[in-house]
Amino acid sequence: MHSVQPEHIDIKVESESALAWVQTHWGQATRLKLTWLTRDIPWVMAHNAASVTSLKRLELRLLQERSPTTAMLLTWLLAQAPQLQLLFLQHPTALVLPPIRHLSHLIVATSKFTDTCAASIRQLRNLQTLWLGMEGPEPIMSAVDLDLRSLPQLSDVCVDRLTLSGITLPRQCRMHWVGDGESMFLDIWSDNARQGQLHSINLQSDGSLLPEQFLDFLPLYFVESKCSVLQWRDMPQFGRPANPALFDAAHFCCLTHLKLMSRDINILLPQELPLQVLHVHARSLSIVFENPKEQAKRLQQLKVAYRTLRGADVFVLTGLMCGMGALISREAVAGADQYHGFLVNSGHMRGDAWKCPCGACLGCLQQVEGY
Ligand SMILES: [Zn+2]
Repeated sequence: MHSVQPEHIDIKVESESALAWVQTHWGQATRLKLTWLTRDIPWVMAHNAASVTSLKRLELRLLQERSPTTAMLLTWLLAQAPQLQLLFLQHPTALVLPPIRHLSHLIVATSKFTDTCAASIRQLRNLQTLWLGMEGPEPIMSAVDLDLRSLPQLSDVCVDRLTLSGITLPRQCRMHWVGDGESMFLDIWSDNARQGQLHSINLQSDGSLLPEQFLDFLPLYFVESKCSVLQWRDMPQFGRPANPALFDAAHFCCLTHLKLMSRDINILLPQELPLQVLHVHARSLSIVFENPKEQAKRLQQLKVAYRTLRGADVFVLTGLMCGMGALISREAVAGADQYHGFLVNSGHMRGDAWKCPCGACLGCLQQVEGY
């Protein structure tokens, strides 16, 4: 076993000996994944540790880190990995990243985001994507004002349930925002939205913060941004049967992907809305299409799930899409009895078209980069 030098290592760290073993066998590894499962085993550098010069991808899932030695040794380890391209870190509480020359993709899931960590991210000059998010169910607030203009390659940044005191991105960089209604109302995202950087919004209402007639109350900078993907969950009600919520094309001028999940959905979709993919999930559903004939031409995918449906527009549109060669299939609605669901795909669509738009999370990178 001692001479084995695997290319891919995926180990659950349950003892000090597992850590010692991996350090003598990671010399040829290009991919390394270490997961701390049960207890906080502190990292001790083995005296005969191999260097990690081949490492391209590193995933570390630490438990809540109490030992400062681990953070220090981790920084030291990263400084020895000149080929590293993708780094995933979960739970680092006191992390300083060395300026790794080739690092293109950084994913940090943390419960504490500090100025020191932010300053070290600014030194990663070849960074292309950055995912920053919280670890655990509660959103986190950080006083960090994150200025990433020193990173010219940066193309996508996802901020997931992490409230910063400010964020400045290179001009062409897209921002992806995940959060709740409360953090959306903070003004800190408004510059990114006004500059057209806000590309996708994934909003999880807690059911109480937002009023029923949501479009009148959403911050205008959110609505008027160049957002093309909007996903909205857990809102109790969108519009009313007599007064459906209007997705005004003047505000949602770039919206191509829309996904709504709510108890009660009553919406009006105007003809000018550039919608290509529409998913709705509601106990009680009503969608009015202003011009089904024109909208059927543009729509690539329609997915609906409902218990009761008011109005015939959904079926009119489905019929028109099928007349243009679209295929319809029944969809089982997960965990919901008495629900009906179907999926309509235009000729060149296959399966479920809804994918994470961020390009920066591990799921996105695995698909695109083949890591
Ligand atoms: Zn993603």
